[in-house]
Amino acid sequence: MDRTIQLRVLPTDGTRPAQPKEKCGIFGIWGDPDAARTAYLALFALQHRGQESAGIAVSNGEDLEGHLGMGLVRDVFSASDLNRLARFGSAGAIGHNRYSTAGGSLICNTQPLIERTGDGPVAVAHNGNLVNAEALRRLFAERGHLFHTTSDTEVMIHLLASPDQRETPDPLAASMRRLQGAFSVVFLFPDRIEAARDPWGWRPLVLGELERDGRLCPVVVSETVALDVIGARFVREVEPGEIVTLSDAGVESRQFAEPADHLAMCIFEHVYFASPASTVFGQNVLGAREEMGRTLAREAPVDADWVMPMPDSGRSAANGYAHESGIPYREAIVPNRYVGRTFIKPTQGEREAAVRLKLNIVREIVEGKRLIVVDDSIVRGTTTRLKMLQLREAGAREIHLRISAPPIRHPCHFGVDFACKEQLIANGKSVEEIRAFLGVDSLHFLSLEGLLGVARHDPQAYCTGCFSGEYRVDVEHPQTGEIRSKEQARMF
Ligand code: AMP
Repeated sequence: MDRTIQLRVLPTDGTRPAQPKEKCGIFGIWGDPDAARTAYLALFALQHRGQESAGIAVSNGEDLEGHLGMGLVRDVFSASDLNRLARFGSAGAIGHNRYSTAGGSLICNTQPLIERTGDGPVAVAHNGNLVNAEALRRLFAERGHLFHTTSDTEVMIHLLASPDQRETPDPLAASMRRLQGAFSVVFLFPDRIEAARDPWGWRPLVLGELERDGRLCPVVVSETVALDVIGARFVREVEPGEIVTLSDAGVESRQFAEPADHLAMCIFEHVYFASPASTVFGQNVLGAREEMGRTLAREAPVDADWVMPMPDSGRSAANGYAHESGIPYREAIVPNRYVGRTFIKPTQGEREAAVRLKLNIVREIVEGKRLIVVDDSIVRGTTTRLKMLQLREAGAREIHLRISAPPIRHPCHFGVDFACKEQLIANGKSVEEIRAFLGVDSLHFLSLEGLLGVARHDPQAYCTGCFSGEYRVDVEHPQTGEIRSKEQARMF
């Protein structure tokens, strides 16, 4: 059999990079005669959730096969790769798009991970970040287990394969109960897909169904935008603490744990991460972003000639701001569509070069004008600073920067890559200090109350850790494995 699963390469200098933070997109479909191609389309629709690597695993009912690689979906899969997967089988397929920090940018961490346990083959694709993976990894390493990857996802397979879980009536549920942190995850077995969502509901996961030749094929996916792309219908969200099984018998459900008393849906999905076309946590993302812009206009009004979005991330909020303030919306920052998101470039120098490459300013619109520039968030501040400089160079008279989220002061341990605390511009700096650094005339961040006021659910149901430093669970240090209380975790 032609197996093209790529070699897993770990660093040879004895070091192990920091565990990557997994901001990813996941997908699964059962019973579709065109499963591999459907997964390929869905991964395109989820590309915004991760641009570093992509992969698809398929089942032929007895065994699994996969194709994985570094880069964008369009680069990873050729027509012949997809044909080969389709020839292997189409009982079911899962897929994964991955983004991680530079430290975790290794071919060995591409997903789905495909392994063989005593019960047969299994493939897994994970979105989120575990906060007890290091402790579990050590436990297994002491028992002589070998690890192929540096990713936290691999511990899930070790849990599933070990007697502690295998000897229980429901090994998958028992495995999921050992995990702490954020996980929306799909497992592919030869005869079924099982998908689980952590009891806090950190990352989104929805169920859908796709009609094929008069039959309904169950689908599970990170975001509804992928359902639209493959022509499937939204059914419902996977509940926190739930496992759904997709098989020839249709969809079955069980709880592996009660939902947490306080859910922790990631509010940053609404701010930046999810596609505007998706409905996430029961709320359309574009509508939420417009509302954030309206709230921002009420919180921080200022007189100006134009409301100007920072493309593409600030568009919806700028629209909302313009409507609420009555100041005309005008675009003058023109993106180059072919550069890609700049934060995918691992070094600072490369990121800066990419920013200049990425945006052109239309001097005719900007020169001599007072601008309200709207963006969704500031992370390191380097991109924003350069953009502001470019606007000044183009003759902007005043720049009033409005950000439709609060300052990001704390790291995310649950799947969004915000670099380390020291690299966050808002960490330890006042808004006035950030304003001075960015070189703008005024700066306002949406208040946390304003942001939560836009969100549909009770404010207590969201994780706001990156803004507030309040985490729902204790967190282990990503390198040392040392457990810190949720109060201390903001210090990493
Ligand atoms: P910077 O000024 O370098 O912090 O870049 C700000 C831009 O980064 C904004 O336009 C954001 O939309 C975008 N951004 C948001 N979240 C992230 C993230 N997790 N990593 C990198 N960039 C992000």
